Amino acid sequence: MLVYTLPGTFETREAHLDLLWDAGATGLEERGGAIRAYFDERAELPQAVADGEWHEEAEQDWQAEFKKNLRPVRAGRVTIVAPWQRGEVEAGQLALVIEPGMAFGTGHHATTRMAVEALGDLDLTGRRVLDVGTGSGVLAMAAALLGAGEALGVDIDPLTIPIARANAELNGVAGVRFEEGTLGLDGLGPDDDRELFGPPHDVLVANLYAELHDLLVGEYAAQLVPGGPLILTGILTSKLGLVRSALAREGFTAIEVREDGEWALVTARN
Ligand code: SAM
Repeated sequence: MLVYTLPGTFETREAHLDLLWDAGATGLEERGGAIRAYFDERAELPQAVADGEWHEEAEQDWQAEFKKNLRPVRAGRVTIVAPWQRGEVEAGQLALVIEPGMAFGTGHHATTRMAVEALGDLDLTGRRVLDVGTGSGVLAMAAALLGAGEALGVDIDPLTIPIARANAELNGVAGVRFEEGTLGLDGLGPDDDRELFGPPHDVLVANLYAELHDLLVGEYAAQLVPGGPLILTGILTSKLGLVRSALAREGFTAIEVREDGEWALVTARN
């Protein structure tokens, strides 16, 4: 098997991952401070990713290796596990089962972990929660496990919806629903978004990115009841200013920030 090893991590070289895919990588993995890109044959690589090395490796049982290296993720009151790790959840923790490798949202990314923690800091009992950019469905399901009366997860990518629904089945959580959709971006998402979302929600969580939060902040305000908590992540700390000014522009207050490495999560109330 042909492997190209590049110094760095998925986080530090986020902008370079697409270059590897574009060059024909069949898989990417992060291990021991390096990125490993798998190729069927040697490829011409752009300058930005030319600092790596090619080598041949013996075939391995990747599925077994992947499963062995995956760790449960503790995020406040919730522990996120793969289906075969149910037995590893400590007493008193809420188990959230996610089939890994299907969609973004296994809990291994700092933004997902911080968002689950932030949801756990709220009293969600009986609340209606909207999760924008649901991916694997992790945040909507965490909200439901934490007591939300109703959780709706929407994603602009239709491929994520059956994955999120399958994860909901794995967890057997009630009151959670997943639909293709987005918030008020012209030309994006289905036309019937108004019907899809129903009345304003008590809590809105979105793990997207700073520029999109800036565009959507008015929609967040419209989808939230007055005083409703807003949880935003997917924000690079270097772009916190953009999100802060967008929130201030829309009249959000009580803005609080938590950080994990280069990632930030912002909470606010409207
Ligand atoms: N919520 C999961 C989590 O916290 O791990 C997944 C977050 S992942 C970083 C972002 C997700 O947002 C992706 O599934 C992507 O398809 C979706 N997305 C991107 N732009 C969107 C938009 N404008 N509206 C709705 N979903 C969007």
